[in-house]
Amino acid sequence: MIRRIVFASIPRPDLAVSEVPRIISKSRINNERDGIGGVLVFTGGDFVQVIEGTPERVDACWERIRSDPRHHSVEPFLDMPDEEPWFPEWRVGYLYDEDFTRRIASWRSRSGSMSPEELHEMRMLLAATDAY
Ligand code: FAD
Repeated sequence: MIRRIVFASIPRPDLAVSEVPRIISKSRINNERDGIGGVLVFTGGDFVQVIEGTPERVDACWERIRSDPRHHSVEPFLDMPDEEPWFPEWRVGYLYDEDFTRRIASWRSRSGSMSPEELHEMRMLLAATDAY
């Protein structure tokens, strides 16, 4: 059984653009060590991330992420157990798309109450981001 958290957050206003690759690089190292998969999307104005793995590892990762001063308004809109991960590998996507930003606002507002169809749509959208 795995735990999956999907959250959105907003970068600190004065966050240097050069800090984003640092976050990514550290996350890649830590997540590989901890067997955490998922996807991180940066839209320019928001972060959206899925983290998935054993509940203990995800708890620890989530605590670190929540207390990171480089972003704020860290809001989980999905926290669920599952049999299988959506994204077994950890990947990063970049997306500069206002439409995606609007969707993030909608996901935030639907927090904890998404239908299976909405969950499927969110998974597909995240999977389609330009990840590597
Ligand atoms: P270190 O990297 O050594 O950091 C020690 C402490 O210093 C931590 O509290 C860290 O938050 C803080 N810190 C480090 N650099 C800075 C800085 N430039 N400014 C202010 N404080 C700083 N981490 C993961 O492991 N996995 C993830 O999937 C993940 N996703 C993230 C997504 C987002 C949107 C953000 C903003 C951060 C994410 N992080 C992720 C980073 C996470 O918040 C922690 O910074 C990181 O896990 C700490 O790694 P560490 O324990 O090896 O300590």
